[in-house]
Amino acid sequence: MNHFEKYCTQFVHSVGSKEGAISPTLTNSASFGYSTPQIAEGIFDGSVKKPLYSRMGNPTTAKLESIIAQMDGGIGAVATSSGMGASSLAIMSIVSSGDEIISVGGLFGGTYALFSETLSRFGVSTSFFDVDQLEAIQNTITEKTKIIFLESVGNPNMRLPDIKAIAKIANDAGVALIVDNTITPLSIEPLSLGADIVVYSTTKILSGNSSALGGCVVFRAINKESDKFKTARYQDLHKIIEKVGDMALIPIAKKRALRDLGMSANAHASYQTMLGLETLALRLPRIMQSVAIVAEALDKAGLSVNHPSLKSHPHHQRYLSDFQNGCGTLLTIDLQTKEKAYQFLNASKLVTITANIGDSRTLALHMASTIYSDFDAETKKFLGITDGLIRISIGLENPQDIIEDFLNAAK
Ligand SMILES: *Cc1c(COP(=O)(O)O)cnc(C)c1O
Repeated sequence: MNHFEKYCTQFVHSVGSKEGAISPTLTNSASFGYSTPQIAEGIFDGSVKKPLYSRMGNPTTAKLESIIAQMDGGIGAVATSSGMGASSLAIMSIVSSGDEIISVGGLFGGTYALFSETLSRFGVSTSFFDVDQLEAIQNTITEKTKIIFLESVGNPNMRLPDIKAIAKIANDAGVALIVDNTITPLSIEPLSLGADIVVYSTTKILSGNSSALGGCVVFRAINKESDKFKTARYQDLHKIIEKVGDMALIPIAKKRALRDLGMSANAHASYQTMLGLETLALRLPRIMQSVAIVAEALDKAGLSVNHPSLKSHPHHQRYLSDFQNGCGTLLTIDLQTKEKAYQFLNASKLVTITANIGDSRTLALHMASTIYSDFDAETKKFLGITDGLIRISIGLENPQDIIEDFLNAAK
């Protein structure tokens, strides 16, 4: 059976209701009335499950959270205002000044800047590694290391991590593993591979149509007996874990990040995201099949294409064995110079030039002059940003139309 088939049923039935309004109910209220002071007290201490205030949670957003939590086999999820909001929430709920983060693979420009420019201002330092530097990653872990942060596909370097091996390092050392699975929802199930927390930008393929900025963080349950979050490394989380038990990572995220930093999802975006999510399991395999077809055709035509579906890619075996149906919507082409890259983008009739990825339409962007224009030469080299590099996110168009357009544009 196609690995995605089970999600086709799951998504349409969890987004729609069988009775009354079929489309999810959109609750646009910022705040909520409490019928009595006793109920208010219960809502605030968590014993009454009713909405408190939309910064802390909203019924429409809660529906989205439960669908994404179920998708990844998590105990719960917290939706956020953006993908960066999701990464910030996951990280800020765990780290304190003096702590260390290990970042593996990727890396999305915003996440790189969060680590290197923002968290560093608050005394949290990050070391960056390529996906295959397993020994160095292991040797860098100290008692101050709170998080190993991993991107499931290098964006835009297209390198694939051995997630199981990195999860083993994290679990042997008792360090939390956060996986940014924005690019490979459904293809990878990070929690079942040993991760603790999964973050998504739902802006991308999850909603798929550029209609809503959003993010989501999925958490696993805290184990009854031994659990890395119950060790001395995570001492400042123990109070909430003792009080709440297996769901503890949710109130930890809400109280230590969402409440005070306010990266909360808005209900309308959550609604839009659910409408997109409903068809994710159809859109994504179609696009991933096209990505492989396009990559092969461009490679045959002599263009410098980077995609793990190509036999020449160093992680081709990993692509086949670890990633179901493909590894997302991205591929890159290197046209050697900025001039040639601009020529390609100007000549293409099909691409939309934008910083987004994971849309129904094919999107493209010259990397060095846009997202990475602020980065120094050494960082660009580490992240695989060359002068002629164009990142392409394949859409739902007929793949032959895409190939024809690209070959024309590259002439
Ligand atoms: C886009 C993206 C983000 C950030 O998401 P926003 O919704 O734009 O804030 C984080 N990680 C990855 C891999 C992304 O592609």
